Amino acid sequence: MTTVIDGEAVAADLRTEIADRVETLAESGVKPGLATVLMSTDPASETYVSMKQRDCEEVGIEGIHVEVDPDAPAETLYETIDDLNARDDVHGILVQLPVPDHVDKRTVLRRIDPEKDVDGFHPENVGRLVAGDPLFKPCTPHGVQKLLAAYDVETEGADAVVVGRSDIVGKPMANLLLQKAPGGNATVTVCHSRTTDLEARLEAADIVVAAAGLPEFVDGSMLKEGATVIDVGINRVEADTERGYELVGDVDYDSAKEVAGAITPVPGGVGPMTRAMLLYNTLMAASRQHDVDIDLP
Ligand code: NAD
Repeated sequence: MTTVIDGEAVAADLRTEIADRVETLAESGVKPGLATVLMSTDPASETYVSMKQRDCEEVGIEGIHVEVDPDAPAETLYETIDDLNARDDVHGILVQLPVPDHVDKRTVLRRIDPEKDVDGFHPENVGRLVAGDPLFKPCTPHGVQKLLAAYDVETEGADAVVVGRSDIVGKPMANLLLQKAPGGNATVTVCHSRTTDLEARLEAADIVVAAAGLPEFVDGSMLKEGATVIDVGINRVEADTERGYELVGDVDYDSAKEVAGAITPVPGGVGPMTRAMLLYNTLMAASRQHDVDIDLP
């Protein structure tokens, strides 16, 4: 029997724990605050930001939303970040990507105070993760790690294949699985667009994390019997639905489910965990900045 990994349920439990810790912080007079910054009129980015604000409200985190005119000079965004860095009520800062072309993304990521960098994208935090001393683990790979733990998937000694080498998913995922720490100790292979013989690597994997952004790219015939399959992909494909499209993962769910020991669906797998881990990191940031121990799960 294949286990379907229920990301909605694991994320809901985590949000309950987070709401509980928010109350603990309140006893010390601290209310965690997450600032979202949007410099775009892209409807998808607007939706992501409003979802993050709603998530904050649900667990008692203060959501602070700042919009910067997409036509404003880049310096306006950098100064907005400086202002948020200086605010005591803002513990986490998230600049919704992508930013307009005239803004240097690397400057944006470097400008955020590493202690408030709840995405974990500042070079200092990337370095700390690679060095095995992470301050904030990036939300999507951290969410995957929590899902594996919630379903008792053994990573120690496992052969793990991460498909994708992006800075936000593939690379930090590989680093987390590699760490000499709980949820790590795997033997990790990172595959990407220039990898030769991807299929042979997948066939040998106990754990597959698919994050290539290619609809239903990994199918059951490529997988080892009993493998744990984590599908990070979220791809819009044309479909005869009211919206004119449907969301599918990077894994062909039906064929993969026949072979896998455990598998995440799309939607309802990794997505809700990514959202919950942002709240988790914001809570952790507030607890660190005020030096209040809240014993995070
Ligand atoms: P990206 O486009 O930055 O990276 C894709 C990676 O896939 C690249 O490193 C590339 O080398 C690799 N790749 C491309 N073609 C390949 C091939 N033929 N074989 C092997 N590797 C190949 O994407 P990303 O930002 O890492 O996102 C990946 C997917 O995950 C997307 O579908 C995205 O929407 C989704 N995503 C989901 C969540 C979530 O919360 N569930 C979060 C972030 C991203």
